[in-house]
Amino acid sequence: MSAPTPYTATAPVGHWIAGRRTEGDSGRRQAVFNPATGQVAREVVLAGADEVNAAVAAAAAAFPAWAETPPLRRARILTAFLGLLNQHRDTLAAMITAEHGKVFTDAQGEVTRGIEIVEFACGAPQLLKTDYTDQVGTGIDNWVLRQPLGVVAGITPFNFPCMVPMWMFPVALACGNTFVLKPSERDPSPSLFIADLLKQAGLPDGVFNVLQGDKLAVDGLLTHPDVKAVSFVGSTPIAQYIYETGARHGKRVQALGGAKNHMVVMPDADVEQAVDALIGAAYGSAGERCMAISVAVLVGDIADTIVPKLAERARTLKIRNGMELDAEMGPIVTREARDRIEGYVALGVEEGATLVVDGRGHQVPGHEGGFFTGGTLFDHVTPAMRIYQEEIFGPVLACVRVKDFAEALALVNSHVYANGVACFTSDGGIAREFSRRVQVGMVGINVPIPVPMAWHGFGGWKKSLFGDMHAYGEEGVRFYTKQKSVMQRWPASIAKGAEFVMPTAK
Ligand code: NAD
Repeated sequence: MSAPTPYTATAPVGHWIAGRRTEGDSGRRQAVFNPATGQVAREVVLAGADEVNAAVAAAAAAFPAWAETPPLRRARILTAFLGLLNQHRDTLAAMITAEHGKVFTDAQGEVTRGIEIVEFACGAPQLLKTDYTDQVGTGIDNWVLRQPLGVVAGITPFNFPCMVPMWMFPVALACGNTFVLKPSERDPSPSLFIADLLKQAGLPDGVFNVLQGDKLAVDGLLTHPDVKAVSFVGSTPIAQYIYETGARHGKRVQALGGAKNHMVVMPDADVEQAVDALIGAAYGSAGERCMAISVAVLVGDIADTIVPKLAERARTLKIRNGMELDAEMGPIVTREARDRIEGYVALGVEEGATLVVDGRGHQVPGHEGGFFTGGTLFDHVTPAMRIYQEEIFGPVLACVRVKDFAEALALVNSHVYANGVACFTSDGGIAREFSRRVQVGMVGINVPIPVPMAWHGFGGWKKSLFGDMHAYGEEGVRFYTKQKSVMQRWPASIAKGAEFVMPTAK
């Protein structure tokens, strides 16, 4: 692959309302950094109440016509969008690297996983096809419709500025809703680029809007009477707040939260495969993935073999500017996040865990101002420690040693987070038992990051998801539609006289 072109635009990142860019007039702005250099790259505008109202009004005005547009025509627009996304995949990936910091090839992977949801949503006519029962009683038929909700909002985190919005809006639009996206203020540029591609694909103005902002914009959406549903992905305290506030204001809400994903390594696992998996899943994207592995549960005596191999690999990670094609790990998104992660490393030492590899203070030559930290590895971590209990969201892997499978399973099942989990083993019985008994939403057997495919749906359990339905897949279609049941008969089959008993099939 030839060197990718870096994203260097300096213009302020504005909103996208009713099919055009606007900076609004809230007068509020925030710096957007390039994490690899530590420099301010551009600014993002932050919405005030007027911009919230304008975005929702644009979406509400566009809703009736979009809801009436046949699903096949909606799907054709999404198919045109898909073509444009494929054409501009690397531009989007470079934008992600420029503002998030993840390595370019990982950013390409993020765009691809987003594209897969668009591919799924292109099946709108099939997805919205419903059930019909002929002759539920003599001369009576019954069927269901799935109708759009109206204006729906998506509030998304910094760590997947392209893929997570694409978990939401392609399915929401396919179902006939109009959309207001409130992306993370830390990496806002991909959202505007996506809005522009949707317009080029033929999406009518107002169907998709972008509102840049912070808590003020979020609260405006959560309390706005014209917003019918909210999809949220982010940290657990905010997810719970979104769920409770949205529900209190009568909205349908799905709020995906944080994680602390375990990978159980059984004594019969293939050691090299397990080490590769742990290194990629713990340090890939600098651990800033909700499906990153942050706890290795090492069963029996396999820890003595695995920990030294992990240490060797963690020490030699290629940590660079993500635009360098051989980089394995880039910087952390902000200085504050880097300092928080390094604070957890200090805490782990205080708590008595064995610090095998210390990533703190890592310097990248030529990028001294960048928000870098190295890969950190702890051994002998216990469930009583905060570094075990809390989400660190950085390149810190905690090894917990347990005696057997039962102890490993009990450990995973007693954690408050339950997003993803993996088990590495060569025993089919253990694999089956683990998948069935583990209390976690997404399970990998010899697969470290089991992010479900577009048609299966994504979501955790416990504190990792507030709400009933997972993101995308058929769960997404259900979330973005309401069911209506229609029962019909015609005069020729109607018996004369009023009926006072509960109708039953005749
Ligand atoms: P975050 O919770 O800080 O922010 C998420 C969104 O909420 C952003 O758009 C932000 O502007 C908004 N927000 C932040 N504080 C708010 C407040 N007080 N009131 C209202 N809105 C607020 O999360 P983040 O740091 O951007 O992302 C990282 C987190 O997201 C991690 O906890 C990670 O595990 C989680 N995450 C979860 C999933 C999942 O599928 N479960 C996927 C990706 C990320």
